[in-house]
Amino acid sequence: VRRDEAEALDAADPLAFCRARFRLPEVLIYLDGNSLGALPVGVPAAVADVVERQWGVDLIGSWNVHGWWDAPRRVGERVGALVGAAPGQVVVGDSTSVNLYKLVAAALRLRPGRGRVLVHGDEFPTDRYIVQSLAGAHTATELGAEIAVAVRSHVDYRTGRLHDMATLTAETHAAGALALWDLSHSVGAVDVQLDDAGADFAVGCTYKYLNGGPGSPAFAYVAARHQGRLEQPLTGWHGTAHPFEMDRPYEPAPGISRVLTGTPPILSLAALEAALAAYDGVSMAAVRAKSTALTELFISEVDERLPGVFGLASPRPAEDRGSHVALAHPEAYAVKEALIARGVVGDFRPPDIVRLGFAPLYVRFVDAWDAADRLAAVMAADEWDRPAYRQRAVVT
Ligand SMILES: *Cc1c(COP(=O)(O)O)cnc(C)c1O
Repeated sequence: VRRDEAEALDAADPLAFCRARFRLPEVLIYLDGNSLGALPVGVPAAVADVVERQWGVDLIGSWNVHGWWDAPRRVGERVGALVGAAPGQVVVGDSTSVNLYKLVAAALRLRPGRGRVLVHGDEFPTDRYIVQSLAGAHTATELGAEIAVAVRSHVDYRTGRLHDMATLTAETHAAGALALWDLSHSVGAVDVQLDDAGADFAVGCTYKYLNGGPGSPAFAYVAARHQGRLEQPLTGWHGTAHPFEMDRPYEPAPGISRVLTGTPPILSLAALEAALAAYDGVSMAAVRAKSTALTELFISEVDERLPGVFGLASPRPAEDRGSHVALAHPEAYAVKEALIARGVVGDFRPPDIVRLGFAPLYVRFVDAWDAADRLAAVMAADEWDRPAYRQRAVVT
């Protein structure tokens, strides 16, 4: 398409108003919101208020009067509404890695007599490592009679493949196992329906499409039907029924609160809570529709301008793809560096993937068009072919 056609898509975009909810450097085309989301405009003032007034003036009383104690549950409800979870099933706290540990361990305890955990070899490293720590050699890549729980990403971090949550959950249940979904690359970009899909557990990051900021706490979902019997291994005082009756032995809190462990990171929670306002009045169906349209436009421009130059590592049918596009190229790292030099920020994932994320709340159709245009320029002049672009930073 021509650039003015992309502009017309922006003019007709029902989510166009959301871009003003973010602070973005005008010179950048930011296609890495799937790794670190952009800064929502309300976050700096919200964090400053928690630091200066709540912490600085009201001090310890803030746990009650400013709702610090309830923040993990309150923010959890807000996240739950974005992933199709009825109230009382999501809390925010700890990292995705820690929440995975808690829920995989809890799932193993709910399925005594079954000691194996399903996890695929191409899963995100932390998912594989946590499962290996808990299950040792008892990991598997296929469903079977000994599987207690299947751990899967909803959207693959590398290829962007979107899995059919309802179908895979039903297959998992038919095999007698529980289904745990990692939503790190789908929450905030894909229309997730945990309750409808029958999911048992879910975890996910909030610093990616949810824009909670670097290291913002992750969420954990436990379906209401499992909460009464749930035993998670990190039995800290924030997960108990009577946290301030300190002489008592451990007694888990009645609902989703039993997933909590220790004192939550209030500053990060405040940033996340303010960030979630970017989703006010936004339907996830509209977000998904725009996400699909953005990646379609980008892929078709790359196909047209750069035939045969990249392998499309993402699924071509839009319904099988999340919100990022993975392009395979032997010099992927240098290509992504050369793109950054042209103001298009994506990232690299080994062995050979340039990964470009299209965060639907703030990426425009012209951004997708310009990104393809600049990628074509980078490839036409071999701009990537410089020694400096092959030197890998710690974070790729
Ligand atoms: C980003 C990501 C994580 C990150 O986990 P942390 O504990 O926040 O570092 C975990 N799983 C998947 C699938 C991810 O994409």
